Amino acid sequence: MGLEETSVEKVKGIGAARAKQLERLGIRSVDDLLNHLPRRYQDMRQIVPLAQVKLQDTVTVRGQVMALQERRAQRRQNLILTKAILSDGSGQLNLIWFTRGWRTPSFIRQQVRVGATLVAYGKIETDGSQFLLKNPIWEAVSEENSLHTGRLVPVYPLTENLPVKILRRAIWQALDDYGPALADALPPSLISSRGLMPRPAAVRQLHFPDSWEQLERARRRIIFEEFFLLQLGLAVRKRWLKAPEKGVSHRDDGVLAGKFYSLLPYELTRSQKRAIGEIFADMEATRPMQRLIQGDVGSGKTVVAAAALIKAAASGYQGALMAPTEILAEQHFASLGGKFAALGIRPALLVGGLPRARREEIVAGLASGEIQIVIGTQALIQEAVAFARLGLAVVDEQHRFGVRQRAGFKAKGQAPDLLVMTATPIPRTLALCVYGDLDITVLDELPPGRRQVLTKFVSALRREKVYAFVRGQVAAGRQAYLVYPLVEETETSQAGAVEAFENLRRGAFAGFKVGLLHGRLSSAEKEDTMRAFRDGQLQILVATTVVEVGVNVPNATVMVVEEADRFGLAQLHQLRGRVGRGQDQSYCILVADPSTPEGRARMQAMLETSDGFRIAEADLRLRGPGEFFGTRQHGLPELRVADLTRDLEQLVEARRAAFALIQADPDLSSPEHKTLRDALLKRFGERLALADLI
Ligand code: ADP
Ligand code: MG
Repeated sequence: MGLEETSVEKVKGIGAARAKQLERLGIRSVDDLLNHLPRRYQDMRQIVPLAQVKLQDTVTVRGQVMALQERRAQRRQNLILTKAILSDGSGQLNLIWFTRGWRTPSFIRQQVRVGATLVAYGKIETDGSQFLLKNPIWEAVSEENSLHTGRLVPVYPLTENLPVKILRRAIWQALDDYGPALADALPPSLISSRGLMPRPAAVRQLHFPDSWEQLERARRRIIFEEFFLLQLGLAVRKRWLKAPEKGVSHRDDGVLAGKFYSLLPYELTRSQKRAIGEIFADMEATRPMQRLIQGDVGSGKTVVAAAALIKAAASGYQGALMAPTEILAEQHFASLGGKFAALGIRPALLVGGLPRARREEIVAGLASGEIQIVIGTQALIQEAVAFARLGLAVVDEQHRFGVRQRAGFKAKGQAPDLLVMTATPIPRTLALCVYGDLDITVLDELPPGRRQVLTKFVSALRREKVYAFVRGQVAAGRQAYLVYPLVEETETSQAGAVEAFENLRRGAFAGFKVGLLHGRLSSAEKEDTMRAFRDGQLQILVATTVVEVGVNVPNATVMVVEEADRFGLAQLHQLRGRVGRGQDQSYCILVADPSTPEGRARMQAMLETSDGFRIAEADLRLRGPGEFFGTRQHGLPELRVADLTRDLEQLVEARRAAFALIQADPDLSSPEHKTLRDALLKRFGERLALADLI
């Protein structure tokens, strides 16, 4: 039976009641218990001779109990006072405990006898004449290995009523009984060639390190393993996604793409040209493209996608672009449809709200192949939609879609090339983990002439001034967003968009055209409101973060974010990216009085930089990888010891080793890799959908 299936109750000293408490920590099996890692370690190795202790020092001491006394406190009868006199030959020290209870002996008396050896840890105080330790951490050390004192002592995350000593002893016991049975997933050759600590030893050292150096080695070993398994999964997936399928080879003379560039009112940036080069090379190859374009808000991903779509059409295939909202799809179609037509390519827009006849016409055109490029929403992946020969599928704002939608889109063709785009810059470590099976193109340059968005951070006390500023901008013909963290206010926060909308349109913005946009409206209502704002029928938009994604309203110059410290940095960056898209100077005003250090750090980061990648790194550092992506499905497995903000070097190394191994043994079929294969499937199989692949 594996340790995952072995209940903690099997561990000596853990009964039903303790097991319940452990369950509150998420610990059910022996495996869970061994994976419950210390938060930190207390160095209690230095034992100070009793003759050398000084007042106020925090010390570990060791000695024999010479005498024991116990009495009731005079004023509080339910308090028992136990005193032990400790001697180590060099000197003496009093240990004093106060325990609650009516009956003597106290539990301390029950456990300590005269003559026993104790190790105690605490801060030296005085009763006026003698030094003493009050309520010290202590342990009777008959055993050779001490757990709670005299070593690097692990400090664990705890739950109510579960004494740390019980938890420590349980883990110690589990290590003794089950530690040797811990399977080492890494193949022996890898362990020896990299000088890694074997797994059982590493797990023991993580809990009860013999020294800081051993702890470091143990951590290195576990970090390597975590990254290695993850990267191995990605290597398997990438290989599988690419190798066996024979995809579309897009070949054309490049004439249409060249004409397209000449239709643009601007020069492509160097980044855009490089991105197009990489994409074209992938498209010409037979193996299916799996490429991600990461580019900051406003870096100009759309034309890059357009060039790829044109290449698909020019090569005799169809290209499709899927956007997360109707309004985005419309926006893309409005900017590109005419240009496609001018090149002699037949384009179409397929969104949910089309009249039936129009919709059927488009569906027919896609099935016959007459329509060469289609831009749309999720309407594109509905069952009724079929393509004659889909060669390229492009997903815009891909973080808005789930894995299944991406797969559904691809399935509309025969191994079509896939291009996904995201404006959520993510640090390289995360990119390697989350998108490790994709090739990545980065647009790291903004088109020239963009003006920096001026970012200001103001206290809520000065809100009236902010409103006055917004009125000024709107009166001058501009538009403004006011974003709130909540749809409706709660007991603890007044930052609800609905209430703000009611108050503002009667108060501060009376006489202006104010709209309301939030996630509880129907899609149709949302799209209508967004359209009205785009077309200038609304001047001020009160909203939640639903405005975050890709919308381009160049006339909007003010973004006010209320309770800005409640948003993640990536979100704030996206919100700021909604303005600064036109000719006029734009402003981002963060209204907040952050009460936490993280909140202040986030505001500071927003003021300091407008570089999406630097913001993403700051975000990752502040929030950790789990929170980084919010609740969205990101496929990032839990890493227990490895830290993505810190361990980039080890990640890169583990990745190299993993990809090399898959190169040598693509489906892990050699006997030496059997345990590795099992561990891989168990740990990441579901997350990475590996089960069918190896
Ligand atoms: P995003 O990467 O956020 O999707 P878009 O593709 O929407 O950015 O582009 C943002 C704006 O920049 C658009 O108005 C687009 O026309 C413009 N743009 C794109 N490329 C260039 C360029 N090379 N020079 C000038 N403007 C550009
Ligand atoms: Mg975009």
